[in-house]
Amino acid sequence: MRRARLSEAGRLSEAGRLSEAGRLSEVAGRVASARQALKGALLPSTSTRSISIPELRDRFGGRVTAPGDAGYDQARKVFYGKWDRRPAAIVRPGSAAEVAEVVALAADRGLELAVRGGGHSLAGHSTSDGGLVLDLSALTALEVDPPARTAWAQAGLTAGAYTTAVGRHGLATGFGDTASVGIGGLTLGGGVGFLVRTHGLTIDNLLAAELVTADGHILEIDDHHHPELFWAIRGGGGNFGVATRLRYRLHELPGIVGGTLVLPADAGVIEGFMAAAAAAPEELSAIANVMVAPPMPFLPAAAHGQLILMALVAYAGEAAAGERALAPFRALAEPLADRVQPMPYAGLFEPVEDMAVTEESARSLFMDTVDAAAAATIVEHLGASTAPMAVAQLRALGGAMARVPAEATAFAHRDRRVMAGVGAVYDQAADKPVHDAWADGFAAALRQGGPGVYVNFLADEGPGRVREAYPGATWDRLVEVKRRWDPANLFRHNQNIPPDPAV
Ligand SMILES: Cc1cc2nc3c(=O)[nH]c(=O)nc-3n(C[C@H](O)[C@H](O)[C@H](O)COP(=O)(O)OP(=O)(O)OC[C@H]3O[C@@H](n4cnc5c(N)ncnc54)[C@H](O)[C@@H]3O)c2cc1C
Repeated sequence: MRRARLSEAGRLSEAGRLSEAGRLSEVAGRVASARQALKGALLPSTSTRSISIPELRDRFGGRVTAPGDAGYDQARKVFYGKWDRRPAAIVRPGSAAEVAEVVALAADRGLELAVRGGGHSLAGHSTSDGGLVLDLSALTALEVDPPARTAWAQAGLTAGAYTTAVGRHGLATGFGDTASVGIGGLTLGGGVGFLVRTHGLTIDNLLAAELVTADGHILEIDDHHHPELFWAIRGGGGNFGVATRLRYRLHELPGIVGGTLVLPADAGVIEGFMAAAAAAPEELSAIANVMVAPPMPFLPAAAHGQLILMALVAYAGEAAAGERALAPFRALAEPLADRVQPMPYAGLFEPVEDMAVTEESARSLFMDTVDAAAAATIVEHLGASTAPMAVAQLRALGGAMARVPAEATAFAHRDRRVMAGVGAVYDQAADKPVHDAWADGFAAALRQGGPGVYVNFLADEGPGRVREAYPGATWDRLVEVKRRWDPANLFRHNQNIPPDPAV
C-alpha cells in the first residue's frame, strides 16, 4: 500500500511525540556502537571462519561502514525507522564483481547476509542485527537505448530516478507508486503500479537480468539463458541471487493525465469508484485510499475528520481521451480536491520522506470485486479503528496484467481484479495487539475467493503467508529452482522460499 501517504498524515500530528523516542534510541545506539568497536568487531559467523572489520576494509576499502564510523547511523538507515537494526558491517560494492565477492565471502564464512536495494522492505529484510548488509545503492548506472525501447538499469536505482531519466526520452517502464522504492526489490516481487493495466506488472517488462548467484557467479539470464531461473526471479524475490542489473522494455509515454482526486466517501462512492475503475479503458489505473481525512492543506477545513476517498489516477495516453475516461469518477460526487491534470509520467512521483519509528498494522489481500457489501465493510471497519490513522487501499487490476498466463512468471495472481490493503498507523508498540486484531478482522471480512497475497506487500507475517504468495504449482517450482541455485539458503533474509520446506 502507499505507506508514505499513511505516514504523511500521521507525521502531521505525531512528529513531536516521536522525536523523544528517536533520541532515546540514538543514545542506546551509541552505547552499542562503542561496545562493538571495543570488542574488535568480529563479524558473527555460523562457521569457525569469521571475518574481522580490518580484513573487510582490506578487501573493500572505503566501501565498508562499521560501528564507530562517522557514517554508520546514516548507512544503516532504511525506509521504516522501526527497523532500527545494527549490522556488523555495511558494504556498498561498486560493481557486479564486488557484489560477487561479498556474496562469496558471506557464503564462505557463514555470515548472515541482508541485501539492500532501496531499503523499503516492509519486513525489515534489508537490514540485520549483527549481520552483513550488502547495500546496492552505489550501483546507479542506466543505459537507455531509445530506438530499441530498452534500458539496462543497475539495481541500486530508485523507481523515481529511473522514471525521470527515461522520461527525458518520452519513454516509461511501470514501477510502483513511490519514487524512493528500489527497482530491485520491487521488480523481483512483481511490481504493481500506475501502468499495470496498460503494460502489465514490472516483471512483464523485464527482458533480462544480471544475477550474482549463491556460488558467487555472475550470470546474464533471460528467456533463453537459464530460463527457469529467469522465471523464478520474476516474482520470487531475492531468493535466488542478487540482481545487479535489470533490462527493461520501455514504452512510449510522452505524457499522462494524472494526479490526486479526492471525493467525499460513503459506501456508494467506494463501490461506484471501483466499478468505474474496472470499466475504465486499460490506459487508466487507479489507486483509491479510503480514510478519515487528515488536516491536509489542500482539503477544505470542513472535510477534515470526514471519510474521504483519496485516489491517485493515471491515464497513460492523450489528454482529451484521459478527460473522458475520468468523467465517471468525477461524476460520483463533488470532488473535495481535483489535482488531476496533464503532466509528464514522472510528475506522479512526489518525493516522500522516510517513515520514522511509527508502528503499523497492515494486511494485504486480493479481491474480485468491491460490491455494496464490501464497500459497507470498509466503512464499518475504518469507523471502528482506534488508531490515529486507518486506511483501506484498493487497486484496480486486470487489463494487460491479466493477459499474461499464470504460469509465465512466479507471480500467479493474474486473475484477481482488486488488490486491497488495510492498515493502521500508531506510535506505541504496546498498542500493536489491538491494531493487529483490527487489521486481521478487517482483512478477513473483505476476503473473497481463495487466499493470496502480493509478496512485496507482506510484512513479517510468517511462512504460511509467504506460501500464500505462491499458490499451487508455483511454490513447488520455486522450491526446485531454490534447491538448484541456493541449496544452503544463503539468501534467506527475505520472504523466504526454503530449499527444503519440510525442515
Ligand atoms: C512507501 C512504499 C510504497 C510502495 N509502493 C509499491 C507499489 O506501488 N507497488 C509495488 O509493487 N510495491 C510497492 N511497495 C513495496 C515494494 O515493492 C517492496 O517493499 C520492495 O521489496 C522494495 O524494494 P527495495 O529495493 O526498496 O527494498 P529493500 O528493502 O532494499 O529490499 C526488499 C527485499 O528485496 C531484496 N532485494 C532488493 N534488491 C535486490 C536485488 N537487487 N537483488 C536481490 N534481492 C534484492 C532484499 O534483500 C529484500 O529482501 C511499496 C513499499 C513502500 C515502503
